[in-house]
Amino acid sequence: LFIVLEGGDGAGKSSQIPELATWLTSLGHEVIATREPGGTDIGERIRPLVLEHGQGEVDARTEALLYAAARAAHVEQRILPHLRAGGTVICDRFVDSSVAYQSAGRELSADEVLSINAFATQGLTPDLTVLLDIDPAEGRRRRTAGGAEDRLEAEPDEFHARPRQAFLDLAAAAPERYEVIDATLTPREVQARIQTRVQRLLEA
Ligand code: C5P
Repeated sequence: LFIVLEGGDGAGKSSQIPELATWLTSLGHEVIATREPGGTDIGERIRPLVLEHGQGEVDARTEALLYAAARAAHVEQRILPHLRAGGTVICDRFVDSSVAYQSAGRELSADEVLSINAFATQGLTPDLTVLLDIDPAEGRRRRTAGGAEDRLEAEPDEFHARPRQAFLDLAAAAPERYEVIDATLTPREVQARIQTRVQRLLEA
């Protein structure tokens, strides 16, 4: 089972994932929880190149390729081996984040971003994508309460409105593979909705 959590910065993915992992483990699944960009040695080394300030200007195509390179390593080295062994992978962001940020955000063509990512992922698609939907201003309020912002988080709310819409459009285009959840619900309610949806997937 391959489950991805997506959503704008500040939507609460990183607090929902450990709970989901614990629950699935309690049901007997062998779970790994991992994140993008990162999850492998090379991916963690790419992460600061795309996220930290002071790395110089990163143009849109280079950024898209760096994310895709990190994702290729992640799929090949971690995700596919675990799935092939019968395990469950929960991933914090995947290809949809590239459509949202590198295409809708940085204004590259969605088809081009999808095609480099089809190469990077060997065509792997999540069984379920949970989209924690958040208004960019609310996301910002939560982030700044939590500390320093990375390079993209520092973009204005107008920048973040485009990725938000891109995530919603992706979900609307394939509702059977998405669960869209209002990220302003209480964390407990968000987790309950995630578990209800995953339960449905397990019974399918
Ligand atoms: O999920 P997390 O908050 O760690 O993501 C870090 C940053 O990476 C976010 O600011 C997000 O906007 C950015 N990102 C991106 N393109 C991706 C994945 C993440 O711009 N494909």
